[in-house]
Amino acid sequence: INNILLIGAGQAAIQLAHSLRMKGFEGAITLIGEEAYPPYQRPPLSKAFLKGEMEEPRLYLKPESFYTDKKVALVTRTRAAAIDRAARVVTTSDGKMHGYDRLVIATGTRPRLLDELTGIRGVQVMRGIDDAKALKARVGDLRHVTLLGGGYIGLEAAAVLAEAGIAVTVLERMPRLLSRVTGEAISDYFLSLHQSHGVDVRLNAEVERFVTADGHISGIVMKGGETFVTDLLMVGIGVLPNQELAADAGIACANGISVDEDCLTSDPAIYAIGDCAFRPLAGQEGRLRLESVPNAIEMAEIAACHITGNPRPAYDAPWFWSDQYSTKIQTAGLFTGHTSTVVRGTPESGKFAVFYFRDDAFIAVDAINDAQAFMLGKQVLKAGLPLTAAMVADEARPIPEILK
Ligand code: FAD
Repeated sequence: INNILLIGAGQAAIQLAHSLRMKGFEGAITLIGEEAYPPYQRPPLSKAFLKGEMEEPRLYLKPESFYTDKKVALVTRTRAAAIDRAARVVTTSDGKMHGYDRLVIATGTRPRLLDELTGIRGVQVMRGIDDAKALKARVGDLRHVTLLGGGYIGLEAAAVLAEAGIAVTVLERMPRLLSRVTGEAISDYFLSLHQSHGVDVRLNAEVERFVTADGHISGIVMKGGETFVTDLLMVGIGVLPNQELAADAGIACANGISVDEDCLTSDPAIYAIGDCAFRPLAGQEGRLRLESVPNAIEMAEIAACHITGNPRPAYDAPWFWSDQYSTKIQTAGLFTGHTSTVVRGTPESGKFAVFYFRDDAFIAVDAINDAQAFMLGKQVLKAGLPLTAAMVADEARPIPEILK
């Protein structure tokens, strides 16, 4: 293998380039990315960068010297348009052809949009640097912002905007916030947190129609008639995997590009990693798509091991974090399918953790401002240690003592 081509130049792709060089791969590595920026980290976009506490260059995952020193070719502002699997060639939007021995697809996701919002100004998503810049540029003159969809990214941005003195309304269709990614105690906590910062959160909220003035969003009419006036509508209703390029080339896709334990797609010369990949995970039935930095890094490391003939890295449980106001949530494992929970600490104290169990098996922890609880859960899941409900329920026993 002498020539590795990566489509997408984000978190997963740059990690793979890094990991390949760390493992001694000496062949050509080329990253093709459609954005105007070198690979950058997205988490600060809805947090420190939006707040104005982080400058753009600090978002970049590698300094310029990395690309020259490590001989990693970075092609920006260029979209991969088609994969010819028989010839092992990718054609890009500028008409160029790029050959490969191994191709890695790391195209990420794109925000879901609503057809009825097409062409309306003042509608903002939150995915890339340009989105964050556009929102940041308007913070000073916004009075009302409405967030459609109460997921982590949207709620992070809502927190920054609320702290900047903007009146924020959150419209969530489900009966609770974050329902796809966490349990009820955590949803309730974030509801109270946002309400305590003056955010107007509406649950079970069904939009009837959007109102515009001169082509700009000006309001939202709800089913039942209530109307919200808004200067800006942030849409945070989930993402779609960028899988069309793979699907068009005949690679198996479902909710993302289907891969095996080594991140290989249905074509043995093509891998898929990061947000766009539909992957198996130990202890889970079927495949799933994870949207997190740790997942992108882990999958890049797995693919790098496979490409260089190294053994697969040891299992690590999925994990994630989010920052809102002065709250940090850290999650390890997946809460879906839990049958019981143990709450340690109290939401009122601002520090607590929810441990999720499926029958007797510990499957996940959501820790609010509680790094020790998060680390305990992560360690237990990684090493497959036994952790019972009784062990975590005994609050007289400090967390560092639990496994002793
Ligand atoms: P990306 O980083 O999205 O990179 C994919 C790249 O491929 C993009 O640049 C895209 O433009 C490009 N591309 C797509 N199609 C093509 C094509 N045909 N040709 C060329 N290029 C193409 N995760 C956490 O763990 N914690 C957090 O707190 C957190 N906060 C987040 C906040 C925000 C605002 C966002 C948007 C994401 C956040 N995430 C967070 C998620 C995390 O950033 C993603 O999981 C991670 O970036 C996935 O990496 P990736 O390489 O798979 O995709």
